[in-house]
Amino acid sequence: MSKTYFIRTYGCQMNEHDSERIAGLLETNGYVRAHDAETADLVLFNTCAIRENADKKLYGTLGQMKRMKDARPELRIAVGGCQVQKDKALVLEKAPWVDVAFGTFSVAELPRLLIEREETGVPAFEFAEQTETFPSALPARRDDPFHAWVSVSVGCDNACTFCIVPFVRGPQVSRRLGDVLDEVQRLADDGVVEVTLLGQNVNTYGRDLDGRPLFAELLRALDEIDGLRRVRFTSPHPHDFTPDVVDAMASSRVVCEHIHFPLQSGSDRVLKRMRRSYRSARYLEIWSSIRAAIPDIAASTDVIVGFPGETDEDFDETLRVVEEARFDSAYTFKYSIRPNTEAASMPDQVAPEIVSERYDRLVGLQERIALEKNREMVGRRVEVLVEGSSKKDVARVAARTRTNKIVHLAAGQLATGTFVDVLIGDAHPHHLDGVLV
Ligand code: SAM
Ligand code: SF4
Repeated sequence: MSKTYFIRTYGCQMNEHDSERIAGLLETNGYVRAHDAETADLVLFNTCAIRENADKKLYGTLGQMKRMKDARPELRIAVGGCQVQKDKALVLEKAPWVDVAFGTFSVAELPRLLIEREETGVPAFEFAEQTETFPSALPARRDDPFHAWVSVSVGCDNACTFCIVPFVRGPQVSRRLGDVLDEVQRLADDGVVEVTLLGQNVNTYGRDLDGRPLFAELLRALDEIDGLRRVRFTSPHPHDFTPDVVDAMASSRVVCEHIHFPLQSGSDRVLKRMRRSYRSARYLEIWSSIRAAIPDIAASTDVIVGFPGETDEDFDETLRVVEEARFDSAYTFKYSIRPNTEAASMPDQVAPEIVSERYDRLVGLQERIALEKNREMVGRRVEVLVEGSSKKDVARVAARTRTNKIVHLAAGQLATGTFVDVLIGDAHPHHLDGVLV
């Protein structure tokens, strides 16, 4: 009988993408997906290292897995992803009951490691330091028939002082344009109508390929793919929304009217210490130029609260920029010390109670703005892509606008993956309610 697997994914979209490849690899090697960890023969954790609580959570979860394994010794446990790349052999020291450990550059080795574990009876691991096989070259087992993640680059050449990504994902390596386009065409032929291009710094795509082709050319080329209706991309860097990228977005048929536009802080003093290459005025200027070129474009952002040395005045600057930019949504994070990063050894780390107080004020401000922006949608007719049942109410479906807003609709006969027009009836901070027209 076939062995079964269950994957739990933590962290960002890049990890979701990698998990689809991991699932594809396992299925090519005869495994079948299990419904839950309790019944699976192999439980795999694809881990994240971006903040400390992700770290802590994993070791807690692995502790629970030990109890499961004591009851079911034939259970196999595998861990991969960013935290494994960071901790390497330490994972096996802290959790010696783990059977297989593999870093971010070693995804393709998983089937071999699983066999090695059975042959040797001891944990098998691989923590390579650079990409041998692009995860995108591996088979995928996609969660959605209508949407696909397409990785265009891995790694990051920036050195933001708070960020662990360059340590666990390495320098930027871009895929060849032809490979990306071939993959998207194959996906479109297979019924995929929306792709999300992924890169740690997605809009510097191609810079390591002798400087060409660049991100704007990639966006323009995607317009030519038959059957493709929507393109999104993440995570871009504000500084790399160059005029050619904005032009390519504005003239595109497929690129959606939504960007992620990570601010991190509104204080110039903090931005400098974060080693972000823009200042608040420049950031707002780039944002205005994008809005001028693409009316009705929506934006989400990332903000870190409590970066070392952040004063009340610095934080007020963040509130000012958030108020002025009027983001449609924001991912807000409390600063978390990451090993080996420059910010970890900066003096004057901010006290947790101050961070919490500032965090709550920022979230309150953003919720108000998000609701105001969503209310502007009431009474409008928009096209949405039906994504599946609403998590809150099975009698409703969740659908997404090109501007990345979730609309809840009465389920009726609506099939997942179809486009319909809806009239927006009501607004909430994180979603809209609509009716079919
Ligand atoms: N490449 C992306 C960029 O430049 O914005 C970000 C990648 S990271 C996966 C996503 C977000 O996590 C960052 O934008 C940042 O806001 C947040 N983040 C990264 N390191 C952090 C840290 N040490 N503490 C708190 N938040 C952090
Ligand atoms: Fe990290 Fe993004 Fe900065 Fe790269 S650009 S170091 S991934 S925050």
